[in-house]
Amino acid sequence: MKILSASYRGQMNSLESCPPDSHPEFAFIGRSNVGKSSLINLLTNQRGLAKVSTTPGKTKAIHFFEINERFFLVDLPGYGYAKVSKGVNEGFNVAAADYLSQRKALKTIFLLIDSRHEPQQIDLEFLAWIQPFQRELILVFTKSDLSKKDELQANAHAFHDRMTRLGMTPARHLSCSSKSGAGKQLIFDQIQKHLPKPDKQAQQKRKVSSAWLKHVGKH
Ligand code: GDP
Repeated sequence: MKILSASYRGQMNSLESCPPDSHPEFAFIGRSNVGKSSLINLLTNQRGLAKVSTTPGKTKAIHFFEINERFFLVDLPGYGYAKVSKGVNEGFNVAAADYLSQRKALKTIFLLIDSRHEPQQIDLEFLAWIQPFQRELILVFTKSDLSKKDELQANAHAFHDRMTRLGMTPARHLSCSSKSGAGKQLIFDQIQKHLPKPDKQAQQKRKVSSAWLKHVGKH
């Protein structure tokens, strides 16, 4: 996918303050420091669009990035420093919880996981918590440049295993690196699936007008 435009549409602190759901939306979430901002910068081809944080757990709002005037990338707060099991609404962020459970335009949740780590309790708790929302979910194993292929595969497999054992539907997964750009296209392929065909309306209009011109030409 070619990025023709990427612009920041602001930070929202409640579901009500989110932009009208005019485009499909794709949410990115994970523990603080997992590489979320770096990935959003990679996807949008803009280094400074999402802040690459030095203070983990700082971002609390929901940030919207409009891409190609066709879809939104949605940056949700990192949950590493919140106790998800104590009730997401309590520690995590009410706006993010409302967003994930209620937002109509949300098509896919990309849950970011550091590829170097075995399944962490907090990620599994988060996964269990979002299950009832029945969202399409993709596990994104980040920082693949820092982990060996075998290690990454083993961690992905362990995640799959733990989800199954906990009675969850195992999610599809992919890996990426914001350093090398690996996996970028796979994320775009996933997004593309949900986008309406680009110029369907315009094509239709062109067909109608050329038919009309032919018709006029005959008279
Ligand atoms: P966030 O807190 O989830 O937004 O994470 P950041 O994007 O701020 O990244 C946290 C740290 O990990 C920063 O020092 C990044 O430079 C580093 N980082 C992020 N993605 C990658 C990656 O793909 N490869 C490597 N080697 N480092 C990364």
